[in-house]
Amino acid sequence: MSEPTPPPPTEPTSGASPARREGTAIARQSSEGQSNTAPGKRSSWLPGPAQGFGVTFATMFKKVTTEEYPEVPKQTKPRYHGRHVLNRHPDGLEKCVGCELCAWACPADAIYVEGGDNTEDARFSPGERYGAVYQINYLRCIFCGLCIEACPTRSLTMSNDFELADDDRQALIYTKEQLMAPLLPGMEQPPHPMRLGENEQDYYVRAPQPGSDAEPVIGERA
Ligand code: SF4
Ligand code: SF4
Repeated sequence: MSEPTPPPPTEPTSGASPARREGTAIARQSSEGQSNTAPGKRSSWLPGPAQGFGVTFATMFKKVTTEEYPEVPKQTKPRYHGRHVLNRHPDGLEKCVGCELCAWACPADAIYVEGGDNTEDARFSPGERYGAVYQINYLRCIFCGLCIEACPTRSLTMSNDFELADDDRQALIYTKEQLMAPLLPGMEQPPHPMRLGENEQDYYVRAPQPGSDAEPVIGERA
């Protein structure tokens, strides 16, 4: 019987690994089993402090990007998602039909809609229904735009207005009156009868007839 072979001597476990101590590349094994190679030591003839301040010196000579807001208002991109707008038809009737599709599409549950019935004495929109109560809670809204995609009448769109900050939580729940587009020349404050046709088809399906009061939709903001 021969004596058992003693195990080979091991490296000391304190301090950095052999690869880092020697300044060579270190091979790491990621969780996916792929091997990443990272340099163990930066090679440069500059001393370390000069390398560190290199970024600072380079930035000193770049164009300053300081915004002078609010003295100089920020110009957003044309398709920026800002505050919502409830649009009107060219005669002033509301485009919203109270269908609640925007509320169902909202992932943040930020929209509350209650539909109401139009009557011949009190008509707010073409067709049967209108949005009697409409609220958007800007404490919840994440400005994703899914609600305006869901709206079948293009009633709901988004403006470029981003100045929505407030120190009152109640004030950030916008009501229908705050969200409605302003009345432009030629528009009349609802309720009033349909001016642009006999029924809602004339508003939502058929193109405006030449010579009629129906002009290209103005005041609608994307
Ligand atoms: S923009 Fe998005 S989060 Fe805001 S109300 Fe519309 S669907 Fe909801
Ligand atoms: S804004 Fe559009 S989707 Fe929302 S209730 Fe009105 S018509 Fe329907």
